[in-house]
Amino acid sequence: MRQSLLLLTGLLVLACADADAAKSASVAAKPTQWAAINQPSRGQSQSIGTPAAGCLMGAEALEPDGPGWQVLRLERKRNYAHPAMIDYIHWLGHRIQDESLGAIIIGDLSQPRGGPMSFGHGSHQNGLDVDILFRLTDLPLTESERERPDMISVVRGQTVDRSLWSDKLERLVEIAASAPQVERIFVNPAIKAHLCKTVPQSQHSWLRKLRPWWGHDEHFHVRLACPPGSPDCVAQTPPPEGDGCGYEVESWLEKPTLNIPSDRPNTRNVILPAQCQTVIKTAGR
Ligand SMILES: [Zn+2]
Repeated sequence: MRQSLLLLTGLLVLACADADAAKSASVAAKPTQWAAINQPSRGQSQSIGTPAAGCLMGAEALEPDGPGWQVLRLERKRNYAHPAMIDYIHWLGHRIQDESLGAIIIGDLSQPRGGPMSFGHGSHQNGLDVDILFRLTDLPLTESERERPDMISVVRGQTVDRSLWSDKLERLVEIAASAPQVERIFVNPAIKAHLCKTVPQSQHSWLRKLRPWWGHDEHFHVRLACPPGSPDCVAQTPPPEGDGCGYEVESWLEKPTLNIPSDRPNTRNVILPAQCQTVIKTAGR
């Protein structure tokens, strides 16, 4: 009896060790493999890993249009996300309409199963990232505007282009940042520096979420925090305390941050969490 108990305990320990090993193992992935998949997987929606090394189980598609938003370049199949992101865009569209700001124009979200993309973004992999143009419109996009949009920079040198920047765009970014589930918004340093000057000091708290980054002069990039029910989503470190105005943003203004080539091929092999193997293998819907 004692011997069989010992044997059983030994087997249990081994089984647990195996499960842990499988959980911590990671898997190399070719971007083209992920880009070739046309359907989201079945199963409960889950963001897995990080935005730059992750994937997406049970993704939802964002519809081409809705109240207060339109989506670009549907043929790219990058209009998929975690339902938390879809809900966020629905909410943002309504808020923009309620304030009579027009409609927002949505660029890339994620692929049907997330994962690395064959060209363009290094992130957008776990269904929690979206690009939104610095452009508001009252008109429906034409087919050619939707498929081959003009990406118009709102930055001129180290500040915003006054002929393109507007109070409405400032309000759009403020509303976008106001949702508690938004963790960061990437904008060109010139845009952050401009807002540091124009937003009254007493209202600077939302500027903390605005993170200066290369490019991001014709669109801003919203990133949500890991949603509930995604135990394998890896949380990002929160932005540093404070509004990030002053030295932090000014140090960026010395660097060349514009004219960053977009849509370059991604050839590197990305190391993904082992759970992404299941996401690839699960049947589509
Ligand atoms: Zn982006």
